[in-house]
Amino acid sequence: MSRLGVHALVWVGGWSREECRRAVAATAEAGFDLIEIPLLEPARIDVDDTRAVLEAHGIAAACSLGLDLTTDVSSDDSAVVAAGRERLGGALRVTRELGADYLGGVLHGALGRYTAPPTPAGRAHAVEAIRELCATAADGITIGLESVNRYENNLLNTAEQALRFMDEVGAPNLAVHLDSYHMNIEEEDLASPVRTCGKRLGYVHVGESHRGALGTGTVRFDELFDALAEIDYGGTITFESFSSAVVDPKLSTTLCIWRELWDDALALATAARRFLEERWAPEAASA
Ligand code: MN
Repeated sequence: MSRLGVHALVWVGGWSREECRRAVAATAEAGFDLIEIPLLEPARIDVDDTRAVLEAHGIAAACSLGLDLTTDVSSDDSAVVAAGRERLGGALRVTRELGADYLGGVLHGALGRYTAPPTPAGRAHAVEAIRELCATAADGITIGLESVNRYENNLLNTAEQALRFMDEVGAPNLAVHLDSYHMNIEEEDLASPVRTCGKRLGYVHVGESHRGALGTGTVRFDELFDALAEIDYGGTITFESFSSAVVDPKLSTTLCIWRELWDDALALATAARRFLEERWAPEAASA
């Protein structure tokens, strides 16, 4: 059964106890099953408290992370790679403690603009780091590699690249994480990457071409959803949208969120939930 999720940054820019309560309650109010919590500062998450709030609202959690240049596991510098592996290990611990079954994002390198392509040594470092992460996660947590556009990473920009990278890692709990916003920039269309991934697709982000409200940009969602139904996709579909109305000091600048595309998060998320219900029938995947 496919779960429908919403990214925490639709609601809050941090994760204090108050922000946690507000975000999880709003996720339930808008009709979602899951909230995706970015682990940019995992030490600042009160894990026991968050877990209790999630349970009280019957909301599941998924976790995500984008490394930065000081923790880039695709770096040539082994000290930077070591810092990145440490960071991934810490994020995995929080994921497990929260009771989440998924950790995804740009785990294979930095989320940010590179000025050169990856080197063979850097790529090998990334493969080793992800292999270690998957081995540590083996007990019930899926690791997802999100292919993002060329301005946000230089290693994995397409589903095809993610699959080749996965082949090198060779771990059973590793999956491809696709995002319609990035696919709209880098892929030839929105259906063939889904078909190419098949059962190796583990998580999907739905985001508009401008990262605002679903259905108000140029992303061809019907093409995406038809392909997901075709492969009997049963994984999570999480709505991502960002506006300068809700700011995470780090993530918002990394993602270049300069404009206020919306200011009413509940109206935005409720409309997104309705959009998904109308266009994507989860029962089609579980049938
Ligand atoms: Mn995404």
